[in-house]
Amino acid sequence: MGARDVIIEKNFCNGKWVQGTGARIAVINPSTEQPIGHFNEASAELVDDAVRAANEAFPGWSALPAAERATYMRKMTAAIRDHFEDLVAMQMENCGKPRGEAEADINGSVDCIDYFADRADELDARRQTPIEYDIPGYRSSTRLEPMGPVGFILPWNFPMKICSWKLGPALAAGCTVVIKPSEVTPFTDTFWGRAAELAGLPAGVLNVVNGTGAVTGAALSEHPGLRKISFTGSTRTGKSIMKAAAEDVKNIGLELGGKSPTLVFEDADLDLAARLAVEGVFYNSGQCCNATCRLLVHESIKDALTEKLIEEYKAVVLGTPDTDGMTMGPLASKAQYDKVTGYQDIAREEGLNCLIGGGRAAAFNTGYFVEPTLYDDVPKSSRLWQEEIFGPVLCIRTFSTEEEAIAEANDTEYGLAASIITEDDERAERVAAQLEAGHVYNNVSVAIPPQTSWGGFKQSGIGRELGPWGLAGFLEVKTVTSRQ
Ligand code: NDP
Repeated sequence: MGARDVIIEKNFCNGKWVQGTGARIAVINPSTEQPIGHFNEASAELVDDAVRAANEAFPGWSALPAAERATYMRKMTAAIRDHFEDLVAMQMENCGKPRGEAEADINGSVDCIDYFADRADELDARRQTPIEYDIPGYRSSTRLEPMGPVGFILPWNFPMKICSWKLGPALAAGCTVVIKPSEVTPFTDTFWGRAAELAGLPAGVLNVVNGTGAVTGAALSEHPGLRKISFTGSTRTGKSIMKAAAEDVKNIGLELGGKSPTLVFEDADLDLAARLAVEGVFYNSGQCCNATCRLLVHESIKDALTEKLIEEYKAVVLGTPDTDGMTMGPLASKAQYDKVTGYQDIAREEGLNCLIGGGRAAAFNTGYFVEPTLYDDVPKSSRLWQEEIFGPVLCIRTFSTEEEAIAEANDTEYGLAASIITEDDERAERVAAQLEAGHVYNNVSVAIPPQTSWGGFKQSGIGRELGPWGLAGFLEVKTVTSRQ
């Protein structure tokens, strides 16, 4: 039996697979617009059961030596490796991703959980840390303790992978979890339940509830039985989760959107600049929180770079994931297709200068395909320059000085990522220090190794995922001060 047969249409609650009792929801293949499965939404009562299970499992799980938790986590990644082909196929079918990108999602998930399993081993050694100070008669030490049962609300652009960024540190820290996948892409995230089952995780440590944001997501974010909600998605929904968490002062981790810039200076290698600029906005059909969708180019090289960009655009092969040689798939959902094509309509209304693309992909009768699109000389006031589009749409503006480039790059409510392309290392360092962004790339493709940090400045979010900062996000610090 394949991974999909086991998990389809189900929720994983207290170690058991259970059907939802709410509205019946279709899961759509974005390449064909046909349903590939259905599930019944998890009601608020089922969410309540899952939160209760996570609370009951918490004392036992958090009391385990961290190294033992790490052993369970490594068994989970072994289960994922055993089902690798099934998971890649599900990711391609449900998200429309090219095989290479789908494989990278699953491999990235395994790497992330393994990385935090290694951190769990270290955690035991740091449990009780003396604090150095000199106050006669006093001594203090700190303990790191798991936050408690936590909830994850997940997006549809990188199912499984974004969950691993939350699940790895949470399990390593000793938290128990309730996961809500996106209703658009529930399959591979629901496999976390199967991985937990195959690894023999105690019942209730990991639970999965499937449903819409309005019903299942809201029930989770409002639930008083959780100590933290970790969310990745839109700034709009992030704000409503923040409000819900305020009710009982829950911790929150918010990884929200972006409008990330690429800055190309006059000394840049233009071939590299063209490749990185399009890669940054074409990966996953542009549906990335860190998509570098604002291209700021020094005025002296704009024309030469634009020519190279158009060559890169022409090399894109749109297609379904099973098409030989395809390099870009459809958008993940009808809602996202409507949003991106809506921005192409706005561009026409605003009279933007479209150099290539600009519409629906006419070669496809079905599927959520849009043309990779390039707009030149986009005014700062344009909605396409200001708002997150989340599609393969790149907008160009020019600058004449370094100061101007930095000011323009920072002139946004977001601050997730930024990319600098220059052959001058001193300039790269100087500019990186002034950019308001959680992760700055210099002359390299956007990569997010689990050892680095991930998260944004300003309205791109609150908190950091990955690395030691990600683990700290699921730990409470307790200081014990005693008489010496
Ligand atoms: P949302 O932020 O609405 O969805 C993300 C998750 O939140 C989903 O699991 C969704 O559930 C859930 N959710 C929605 N409403 C609530 C709520 N009131 N309470 C709790 N959970 C909720 O994003 P969309 O799917 O609507 O995408 C819209 C835009 O958001 C995109 O175009 C893009 O700009 C941005 N986005 C950013 C992402 C990032 O990586 N930072 C990822 C995804 C989107 P469900 O989908 O199941 O209904």
